[in-house]
Amino acid sequence: MDPNAPTGKAAFRRILLKLSGESFCRPGEGGISVEEVSRIARQISRIAALGVEVGVVVGGGNILRGAQLISRGADVIKEATAHYMGMTATVINGLALQDALESMGCETRLMTTIHMNEIAEPFIRRRALSHLSKGRIIVLSTGTGSPFVTTDTAAALRGKELGVDVLMKATRVDGVYSADPEKNPHAVLYESLNYDQVLRDELKVMDMTAIGMCMENRLPILVFNFKKEGNIERVVCGEPIGTWVGSATRPRAGL
Ligand code: UDP
Repeated sequence: MDPNAPTGKAAFRRILLKLSGESFCRPGEGGISVEEVSRIARQISRIAALGVEVGVVVGGGNILRGAQLISRGADVIKEATAHYMGMTATVINGLALQDALESMGCETRLMTTIHMNEIAEPFIRRRALSHLSKGRIIVLSTGTGSPFVTTDTAAALRGKELGVDVLMKATRVDGVYSADPEKNPHAVLYESLNYDQVLRDELKVMDMTAIGMCMENRLPILVFNFKKEGNIERVVCGEPIGTWVGSATRPRAGL
């Protein structure tokens, strides 16, 4: 038996993990770091080994965000084009994650909402569910396939569509704070919140469209620090870390 095999008991049956582009590079840098991709893939492989069905929505901010490009040259590159470029960036990350996961023995499928038949499958809900039921990790790139929104919104949509128990939002800080903890030393970390509080106080969880969708669909969100090794597994096993956003209470291990 593998001595490093995870021993915990999962608190969730099916999860959707939202990984921003920053998960693919070193802090403060851009592009792709093979070490960072391997680190995140190793953590994901461990939760898959617990028997949890795992979908991952990947962002593209380490390469390009549409809004940033528009602010620098909207007269040259059209707004919609900039967003399509951002969606294409998410495919680069998706390809990297797919290979990293497979190098660790995880069966993986990359799916896109913009057709790229040579390198990825089209996202088809029933096919995605079938992959999950077979223990395959699905990596979802190109967001919603439509410009002017972000991969947070795609994660909220896919989370509902795939019937996940929780949307796990990986961040660089320990959860949701009353203020930016990287700037304000007095910022307080919330253990749990409801959607109304997040919307009213404009707390930095996900973009507001995504929060609104999660609220409407009663999809809980778990915001946690993915930079701490093993945290994804701890969260999936129901350890009370990070911030739980939702109307129902947070489940504990083995439920
Ligand atoms: N994007 C889009 N529609 C989508 C998802 C993403 O137009 O459904 C574009 C948008 O320009 C966005 C970029 O792709 O800025 C990269 O995604 P995102 O900003 O969500 O990446 P992250 O911040 O998670 O790294």
